[in-house]
Amino acid sequence: MKQISKWMFLCIFALCGCVRQAQSNPVTSTIFAMDTTIDFTIYGTEKDLSAAESCLMELESKLSVTDTGSEIYAVNKNGTGMLSQQISALLEQALTLCQQTEGALDLSIYPVVRAWGFTTGQYAVPDTKTLAGLLSHVDYHQILFDRAAGRVTLAEGMQIDLGSVAKGYAGDQVVSLLRQNGVTSALLNLGGNVQALGSKPDGTAWRIAIQNPLGDGYLGAVEINNQAVITSGGYERFFEQNGQIYWHIINPTDGMPANNGLVSVTIIGDNGLRCDGLSTALFVMGLEKAIDFWQEYHDFEAVFVSMDGGTAITEGLEDRFTYLLENTDTNPVTVIRQHRK
Ligand code: AMP
Ligand code: MG
Repeated sequence: MKQISKWMFLCIFALCGCVRQAQSNPVTSTIFAMDTTIDFTIYGTEKDLSAAESCLMELESKLSVTDTGSEIYAVNKNGTGMLSQQISALLEQALTLCQQTEGALDLSIYPVVRAWGFTTGQYAVPDTKTLAGLLSHVDYHQILFDRAAGRVTLAEGMQIDLGSVAKGYAGDQVVSLLRQNGVTSALLNLGGNVQALGSKPDGTAWRIAIQNPLGDGYLGAVEINNQAVITSGGYERFFEQNGQIYWHIINPTDGMPANNGLVSVTIIGDNGLRCDGLSTALFVMGLEKAIDFWQEYHDFEAVFVSMDGGTAITEGLEDRFTYLLENTDTNPVTVIRQHRK
């Protein structure tokens, strides 16, 4: 009996060793999807990794604007269409963001983005008449969504794109799937949009670097557990013509690249989709309006970088943001505090 107990103890000990081994060595992969490079670091099994990859690929096949078999392609082509549960949930949350940001985020901006060539890489500055014509079809209020039926109907001449929120939502979906499968620690990097499940296996926070939007290297790093860190920056996709830089984040009021003084906006929060939509929308708004928005909702943290290099962080980041750029200024980072009412 004593012998059996000893063997059992040894087996359990060995098993614990295997589990520890699996946890300290993540399974990793890199795939290209959603028009970007996606890195998975999962403290789990190969099965968890392939489930995560399939989840992402399936999502892309449903919401791609160019894939002729996608739900969104059909809606854009026919002006109406049925959506799966997953895309319905995505559209519902995205439309809420359009409303909350008063149209700084507008899913119907797609034809304008296409006219600039950001969807194909064939860049061109559209003329004023073309822009005016396209803008007359941009208005998220005209996206009629019957959530119960799962049917979306667009106004005449309108087309939509969920690109501004898709990667954030994908992160949410993959994290939720991994969690359901028992994974407690993972990091997804969707082209610079980072989503963390839990903390690092040793219990410490993930440290996520934020790119310097005005040059090489990193602006700073932020510590997170179980959150998303999502950046929209003018440097991500742009072209230059006659000495002028044009980037992919468009102001829906005039159809021009948003030019309200910010060069990058990073949003840190619990919901990837919200972070993704807000990074785009707050970039469009500019610093002043973005701060008002944060004061009102206060359910996320943010790092704002202005064209002059000024960096501002919301107060919840004070203890978890490290500024990494060398700077002669003794206090290069401004902290935005909540108005106490
Ligand atoms: P992100 O990289 O998340 O900021 O999203 C930018 C992408 O969203 C662009 O490449 C466009 O396809 C699209 N987009 C640009 N401006 C807007 C806007 N104001 N509202 C919604 N989508 C936009
Ligand atoms: Mg976004």
